[in-house]
Amino acid sequence: MAQHYDIIIIGTGSGNSIPGPEFDDKSIAIVEKGVFGGTCLNVGCIPTKMYVYAADIAREIGDSAKFGINSTLESVDWPSIVSRVFDRRIDPIAAGGEAYRRGPETPNIDVYAEHATFVGPRTLKVGDAEITGDSIIIATGSRPSIPPAIESSGVRFYTNEDIMRMPSLPQHMTIVGAGFIACEFAHVFSALGVKVTQLVRSERMLRGLDDDIATAFAQAAETQWEVRYNTEVMGATDGLQLELSDGSTLETDVLLVATGRTPNGDLMDLEKAGIDMDGSSIKVDEFGRTTADGVWALGDVSSPYLLKHVANAEMRAVKHNIAHPEDLQPMPHDLVPAAVFSSPQIAYVGLTEAQAREKYDVTVKIQNYSDVAYGWAMEDSGHFAKLIADKATGRLLGAHIIGPQASTLIQQLITVMAFDLDCRDVATKQYWIHPALPELIENALLGLEF
Ligand SMILES: Cc1cc2nc3c(=O)[nH]c(=O)nc-3n(C[C@H](O)[C@H](O)[C@H](O)COP(=O)(O)OP(=O)(O)OC[C@H]3O[C@@H](n4cnc5c(N)ncnc54)[C@H](O)[C@@H]3O)c2cc1C
Repeated sequence: MAQHYDIIIIGTGSGNSIPGPEFDDKSIAIVEKGVFGGTCLNVGCIPTKMYVYAADIAREIGDSAKFGINSTLESVDWPSIVSRVFDRRIDPIAAGGEAYRRGPETPNIDVYAEHATFVGPRTLKVGDAEITGDSIIIATGSRPSIPPAIESSGVRFYTNEDIMRMPSLPQHMTIVGAGFIACEFAHVFSALGVKVTQLVRSERMLRGLDDDIATAFAQAAETQWEVRYNTEVMGATDGLQLELSDGSTLETDVLLVATGRTPNGDLMDLEKAGIDMDGSSIKVDEFGRTTADGVWALGDVSSPYLLKHVANAEMRAVKHNIAHPEDLQPMPHDLVPAAVFSSPQIAYVGLTEAQAREKYDVTVKIQNYSDVAYGWAMEDSGHFAKLIADKATGRLLGAHIIGPQASTLIQQLITVMAFDLDCRDVATKQYWIHPALPELIENALLGLEF
């Protein structure tokens, strides 16, 4: 006999934030096959940024001579870095999150530590049990995509799921991939003293970013670690000899695969519940409804944006929609910003210059860090903010920053776009603290010609 719930949530990344006071009178099942907290907490955003912070410090030490500070990076204590991140921060939070959901604070919630698959409409198999729900929320995220040539080779490779806990730092690491995750790990490990080779399948890293930003990033990356373009792994043998598409072989100590993500909907027998896919993602409408009555999806498993702030925003929309079916709210997909926490850092929101030129008569300003006072303090070279605005209306269409604190500096420009402010007013109708780094943005705005 199946156990029935008012609400079933599958996945404890963003899905774990669905239960709240508005559902205290509902019976809820949470199903989680892995570690509580999902990708962001355990193997994604948060631990990677904790490693990036340590890597940034390691690089600063190496760069300190330009400030008249003589220092050398003596050694890197990898076990202590791992312990700071996981023993002292991440693992207790994940364990606490699970204990809370299983404990007396949430008596209306049952937790199933199982992989859920559908066996019929609104009916799931979780281990040996069968459960049914009036509302089911699929928030099962995504997993690393592995190129078939690497998977079938049988060699030991790492992904984001285990690289951060490897036992010791290798001498040489090969990173396969050219997206955010590959570029962040390349920064982390090269800064910590590992010789990194990044294999890029095409002639370009960080595809989809504004051309000027991607070009500047590639130039900077190439001075910090080895980047090989137009190169794929065709096969691999034990001892980690990689056979590359240019006919050469590459011997490496550790292989890290970061070649994109596959949404997890394909592992859930969705067809048995009438839930359609749209390519590799679960098909949802603007409100998060799948093609099956009462079944919702959010986050990486169904979203066009594989970002935690988007998964959270979708979660809030779905949570509202389940509680208020008479007042459905769309999942917010306008002006989604993103950052790449590499070296240098990148952040952006809105259109690239090429996209903007297709639709608008644009004005563009590139403002160098080295031309503002704080940039002098930092002895900066090569970093900049690029703004793209509509000449006719003064609206900001796109903002792209490459350089220190890019992910923080971009926030003001996200506000400008979210509230549809006129660039000219933003530049002149507020104070900008002198000589702080936001003067980079002030000068970029003032440099737009209307
Ligand atoms: C290395 C890395 C770095 C990242 N850095 C950033 C960043 O800096 N900023 C940013 O915005 N985003 C970042 N992301 C992306 C971000 O982590 C994801 O977009 C986000 O975590 C997705 O959340 P989610 O709730 O959709 O899925 P998840 O957090 O992945 O949660 C899904 C959960 O469902 C469980 N599950 C899966 N299938 C089943 C099943 N059938 N039954 C039961 N349970 C199941 C999984 O075990 C998992 O716990 C990063 C991702 C990676 C991999």
